[in-house]
Amino acid sequence: MAATTVRSLLKKRVLLQLGHRCYSSSVPTTKLFIDGKFVESKSSEWLDIHNPATNEVIGRVPKATQEEMLAAVDSCSRAYHSWSETSILTRQQVFLRYQQLIKDNIKELAKLITLEQGKTLADAEGDVFRGLQVVEHACSITSLMLGETLPSITKDMDTYTYRLPLGVCAGIAPFNFPAMIPLWMFPMGMVCGNTYLMKPSERVPGCTMMLAKLLQDAGAPDGTLNIIHGQHSAVNFICDHPAIKAISFVGSNQAGEYIYERGSKNGKRVQSNMGAKNHGVVMPDANKENTLNQLVGAAFGAAGQRCMALSTAVLVGEACNWLPELVERAKNLRVNAGDQPGADIGPLITPQARDRVNRLIQSGVDEGAKLLLDGRNVAVKGFENGNFVGPTIISNVTPDMQCYKEEIFGPVLVVLEVDTLDEAISIINKNPYGNGTAIFTTNGAVARKYTHEVDVGQIGVNVPIPVPLPMFSFTGSRASFRGDTNFYGKQGVQFYTQIKTVTSQWKEEDATVKSPAVTMPT
Ligand code: NAD
Repeated sequence: MAATTVRSLLKKRVLLQLGHRCYSSSVPTTKLFIDGKFVESKSSEWLDIHNPATNEVIGRVPKATQEEMLAAVDSCSRAYHSWSETSILTRQQVFLRYQQLIKDNIKELAKLITLEQGKTLADAEGDVFRGLQVVEHACSITSLMLGETLPSITKDMDTYTYRLPLGVCAGIAPFNFPAMIPLWMFPMGMVCGNTYLMKPSERVPGCTMMLAKLLQDAGAPDGTLNIIHGQHSAVNFICDHPAIKAISFVGSNQAGEYIYERGSKNGKRVQSNMGAKNHGVVMPDANKENTLNQLVGAAFGAAGQRCMALSTAVLVGEACNWLPELVERAKNLRVNAGDQPGADIGPLITPQARDRVNRLIQSGVDEGAKLLLDGRNVAVKGFENGNFVGPTIISNVTPDMQCYKEEIFGPVLVVLEVDTLDEAISIINKNPYGNGTAIFTTNGAVARKYTHEVDVGQIGVNVPIPVPLPMFSFTGSRASFRGDTNFYGKQGVQFYTQIKTVTSQWKEEDATVKSPAVTMPT
């Protein structure tokens, strides 16, 4: 029934107006979601939302006013009293219905992602699907939230623990996964009994609005999820408001480190997933066909705008001879608007992002690297104003070059060539980021050495993008993460709960304490 409502809205071509209202300019505006209602912001400050394939303005998003943000957090605080006391089975039922509604609407969500973010429709469905898996996992909360018990720690005395929610939690999301990353955040937080204040990326707010509508349709009570929009002042509000107990952030290092510092200073728990530079080590004994295809897919998929994109290849020994074939495979990828049939690589998010990527490519050339495939100035018929960069491969790269040091976040593969596995490991361990890495080999001992010695949080062996499924956690490390407990899985539950420990003693009547004990029990 609820899914039908959403679908019929979409059929009436009001996709963008779900959570939006038309101004006289006919550009739809994104609403706030406060206390169970989609409300128009009274803000005087608005940002344009663009279709990255055309740069047309497709909507506007407000910078929520202080009053609106206060109303949102107050709504979360009020709802917390009843939601945290709601039985765990009731919360589980809400998310069981929610996962079905997301499945029913996956294509509509994907269309919205492609429109606002630019990735291909197939990839956008993957974006929703990987978030959906976290919601499905959240439905196991009745097992995940179990406490511990130890009977008879001394005579007649038992100890047990239970997990309780924290209060109001908040999420701040990036632009590159409009569905998956918000779904890493509020479902885990809410199923644990917290209420949630979400701030989606101001560049792609539509998907979060649709996800909020579906959650409401699934039966989440008013106030359990509130959504505000904006940039710095919304982020500062979240970092500073005393009712907010925990912040989940995903995005750049610049924002993530700032939010970690400011939020922690205010006594909040903060988990901050940030930038990356992921290396794929190719051993000469690897299965060549698999490796080259996996490398190309993982470097250029989503136009390289994935934090787990395999953006740096380290070719070892004879594997350096595979470069021409790598280039041939990359050349075959089709650059096009994400909603066009057969598109492999969509546009970058903004013209500024495209210009930055082009600058980094040029910096490699200027510093002496070899441009084997140049995707700058790619022409996409019918989408001449889009932010496109074609697949680009730069070889002869060294660790001192700008194109190696910075996260490029575009369809650019930089290639380093080394003689030994030890050299490869040494380069990777000197790189400040520790998000993900992969090794391609048919030798188990080599794979074992690599997984033990490389200082990176998520490692693939013949798996190019080793993002853990939700029964595990997303475990990027070093400069890619600040915090103690990671996103989703067991660690996600730990992040969103606190432990209460009860020690109780029930004595038989004849074992009554006879005198005060003034020393520590031994
Ligand atoms: P971003 O940091 O620009 O934006 C993320 C969020 O922070 C947005 O909601 C934005 O409004 C806010 N923000 C932006 N600049 C801010 C500032 N200076 N102060 C306070 N808040 C600010 O990130 P993005 O461009 O949307 O996303 C791309 C980045 O996210 C890449 O670096 C990518 O590697 C990273 N990322 C990491 C992961 C991960 O799990 N490690 C996953 C996805 C993306």
